[in-house]
Amino acid sequence: MPLYEYYCEDCRKEFTLLQSASVNKEETVCSECGSNVRAQMSSFSSKIPPRTTPSTVKAGPVTADELPNKRVLNLPIPKHVSEYHD
Ligand SMILES: [Zn+2]
Repeated sequence: MPLYEYYCEDCRKEFTLLQSASVNKEETVCSECGSNVRAQMSSFSSKIPPRTTPSTVKAGPVTADELPNKRVLNLPIPKHVSEYHD
């Protein structure tokens, strides 16, 4: 489930909720005061580190010694890696 960041104008407090995409964001209320809160979608991408690489693919530089199976070096790059930049 994606994380959604909200801002309560009454408390001036930011908080993050793990919500299903099907949840009505307009019905989300502040956990402190119960006021309606505003989703902070604009800052969402800037605050989450871009470390969203699938766990099967190691992010960053990898030396051959770190690979559990060195044969992986000979495998073609999985298609989903190049398509992941969405
Ligand atoms: Zn509040």
